[in-house]
Amino acid sequence: MSILVTGGAGYIGSHMVWELVDRREEVVVLDNLVTGFDWAVAPDAKLIIGDIADRALVEKIIKEHDVEAIIHFAGSVVVPESVKHPLKYYHNNTSNTRTLLETAVRCGIDKFIFSSTAAVYAAPNDLKPIREDALLAPMSPYGASKLMSEVMLRDTAKAHDMRYVMLRYFNVAGADPQARTGLSTRGATHLIKIACEAAVGKREGMDIYGFNYDTPDGTGIRDFIHVSDLASAHYSALEFLREGGQKFTGNCGYSKGYSVLEVVNAVKRISGSDFTARMAPRREGDIPAIVADASRMMTRLGWQPKYADLDQIITHALAWEKKLARRGVVAPPLQYDPMIKALSERN
Ligand code: UDP
Repeated sequence: MSILVTGGAGYIGSHMVWELVDRREEVVVLDNLVTGFDWAVAPDAKLIIGDIADRALVEKIIKEHDVEAIIHFAGSVVVPESVKHPLKYYHNNTSNTRTLLETAVRCGIDKFIFSSTAAVYAAPNDLKPIREDALLAPMSPYGASKLMSEVMLRDTAKAHDMRYVMLRYFNVAGADPQARTGLSTRGATHLIKIACEAAVGKREGMDIYGFNYDTPDGTGIRDFIHVSDLASAHYSALEFLREGGQKFTGNCGYSKGYSVLEVVNAVKRISGSDFTARMAPRREGDIPAIVADASRMMTRLGWQPKYADLDQIITHALAWEKKLARRGVVAPPLQYDPMIKALSERN
């Protein structure tokens, strides 16, 4: 039997595929390669280029590869883009997940793991770690598109013979410790990626969006999780379902926050590069701080992270960035005026 990984050529999906292949699982990847890369897929996995909404194709894959479980990553992930193009997100993330669920039910798939996000929660008012039962009130179409998929999965599982795990990711960062894959998207907006690009000279410097938040050093606070630990969290989810688990929703983070300034300083220290980091206006839509309470993942799923350390995350992210630089993948040029940069992020 095999595991179907949708979006397996993308950032998180490609790490999941390596996790499964390393554990000697049979893997089939379905990816339309709009944002993913064929070279990111582990050679031992079978890559099929196509769409999750193509019912006939998905059905054929499930039958031909004797699919036991679906791990569903395929979708769009850029929050500001979702504000500008909400229907793209409701299509790619919500409608297409509905179609995939329909096919899964028709084919009798009884294990489904869904890639959700901390963006389903309401913005917290304080620095207290967020539990899974916190208020669900997405601030962006991206978060809403994922929450709607969560609801569909929950109701579908209840009505049909399906068991599921939904994992809500906090700030995913880092790269495969062996540098077999990593975050390769051009024009990525993620903090650690941008700081690493600045450190290896792909950018002239970077902006720190917001320095007067009500946090200890005035910059935003996030809970960064190593992408390989996130992949292992999905494997724990698969084991939970294989052992007969019915349903589970869990936060994926380390229950510890780091400020933007701490991250930037750690990247400078580890890389030995004193790149420019300018204080810039807040980025629209950013919340001051968000940290996971990830204890449920450990107690209920037995998940044990291996890289819960900011320095390791950065070390692996830097190694991947250097590898990408050698391959000649370059980021777009930096716009020097921080205000223009902040505006261009918005648009
Ligand atoms: N950030 C920053 N400069 C950058 C990119 C991000 O200061 O070039 C900040 C951003 O304002 C936020 C944090 O880093 O406070 C994490 O942002 P990211 O885009 O990585 O993830 P998000 O939490 O927005 O999903």
